[in-house]
Amino acid sequence: MKIIYEPKGKAREYAELAINLYNGCIHGCRYCHIAKMPWVSPDQYYQTANPKKNAIAKLMDDVSKLDGNTPEIHLSFTGDVYQPAEMQLHLTRKTIAILIEHGLPFTILTKGGTRAMKDFDLLTGYDKASFGSTIVFTKQADADYWEPNAPSIVNRIKAVEEAHSRGIRTWISLEPVIDPKQALELIEYFHHIVDHWKVGKLNHHPEIESKVDWVKFADDAKALLDRLGADYYLKKSLTSLHPQATCPKPTFTEKEEVYMPRALRVAIMDHDRALAKERRRNIARKLHGDVE
Ligand code: SF4
Repeated sequence: MKIIYEPKGKAREYAELAINLYNGCIHGCRYCHIAKMPWVSPDQYYQTANPKKNAIAKLMDDVSKLDGNTPEIHLSFTGDVYQPAEMQLHLTRKTIAILIEHGLPFTILTKGGTRAMKDFDLLTGYDKASFGSTIVFTKQADADYWEPNAPSIVNRIKAVEEAHSRGIRTWISLEPVIDPKQALELIEYFHHIVDHWKVGKLNHHPEIESKVDWVKFADDAKALLDRLGADYYLKKSLTSLHPQATCPKPTFTEKEEVYMPRALRVAIMDHDRALAKERRRNIARKLHGDVE
């Protein structure tokens, strides 16, 4: 395929297929991993958002090869799909329209906030799409530092709220968690408008990471999400740190590993039945002096 691709590594946890529409991202998040790629110049990457060359033609070619069994397509891992450039170019809108026309499942993840609402008319009533926003703080001052050019937290929540009110499935990417307290507050405050949570920790910042008890955070987040009856996924970056995660787990994928051979199971059940019968006889003897 040409523009739809299979993510590798950690991104694979989010999606089996993805589309990136823009080169560059003016949101300029300090935790963004893209600028660490050897072929990317951070100075350039966060200055402009250029549409991928022939994106729509490539997409048309790709979708013609896909059918209804296609896994959910994630928009996008790099270059936010609702940067200011999108408001003039409508590349994301055109992409959504094509995916819907071909009946393909997809999800949007953005920090673009209310910019995304221009396309909610397309998403409304299409049950194979969902709308997600990355939100990791409740304090705007922290968002201003870490996500300097992204729309405000309130603006992003407004978009999620609007999607939810239109019946569009919503989710929040609570990743990277930097301050566990704020992450838990977000869940508590907004669970009523969020259909699904994905929670993952901060990576590549050892100094900050070392100050957080991630196992405790994972336990707290799980307890809270369970208490609220929320649908969620804790990323492996969190769950793999838990001491229980190191215990060997039984494998239940192969039928032979779960069940004993049938003949043996039948023999054990017969034996149990015989013992039960004998017990009943003994009780009857004690009570009545006779046998049933
Ligand atoms: S919105 Fe995403 S792609 Fe854009 S700078 Fe932030 S983390 Fe990077």
